[in-house]
Amino acid sequence: MIEIENVRKSFGPLEVLKGINLTVAKGEVLTVIGGSGSGKSTLLTCINGLEAIDSGRILVDGVEVHAKATDINKLRQKIGIVFQQWNAFPHLTVLENVMLAQVKVLKRSKAEAEAEAERQLNHVGLGDKLTVYPSRLSGGQQQRMAIARALAMSPNYMLFDEVTSALDPQLVGEVLDTLRMLASEGMTMIVVTHEMKFAREVSDRVAFFHKGVMAEIAAPEALFDAPKDPELRQFLSATH
Ligand code: ATP
Ligand code: MG
Repeated sequence: MIEIENVRKSFGPLEVLKGINLTVAKGEVLTVIGGSGSGKSTLLTCINGLEAIDSGRILVDGVEVHAKATDINKLRQKIGIVFQQWNAFPHLTVLENVMLAQVKVLKRSKAEAEAEAERQLNHVGLGDKLTVYPSRLSGGQQQRMAIARALAMSPNYMLFDEVTSALDPQLVGEVLDTLRMLASEGMTMIVVTHEMKFAREVSDRVAFFHKGVMAEIAAPEALFDAPKDPELRQFLSATH
């Protein structure tokens, strides 16, 4: 479970998260929508401790992310994060890229790491790309490699930040299909996305962020078909 309690975060004079309260249950798929600069990415980077917070607290499986006593590297292993773009190591094959952190961070043996990398690459449909170099992959394949890399660390949670935004339209579908598959397998996920159709289909709940405030959170039918917040209404009419 991820528990976010009254979290505030500023960059200089700009308050980016203005007291966020949110709980994500095990197995839940939460999508986060909202305009540019509303605080979506910041929320994700605070959850995995990449960013500090100013007040409030975030608990992951009961462990406080920003507490001094917390072993943040250990906690971070539970939380996979995939961004818009991931710079793979160009001189390593796809398989080696997916093995690397397993060996370096989790101290798995090469054989174990290779088996797990192969398993996860097969899982995301890249079983035939093990020995190629990342530059030979399409954008959608590169994103699936990034997802396989995160999954190979055996996370309990996956955070996705606009993983399809940099892709050509014809490549978006294959990456969303991978996320759908993970959702159907019961992975606990927070997905920041601009893909409203996807959000409607896959989410247990959808949260709308506006200027650092979580202005609405509801099941997808309620949020999309009967939005209450005026800013959300405007946002949805602009994106449809
Ligand atoms: P987008 O949809 O464009 O990705 P977002 O909702 O993810 O937007 P954030 O990236 O969380 O928005 O940014 C929220 C605000 O915080 C923005 O105004 C941004 O410029 C600012 N911000 C983000 N990171 C930093 C940083 N490291 N230093 C200063 N300001 C930052
Ligand atoms: Mg963002």
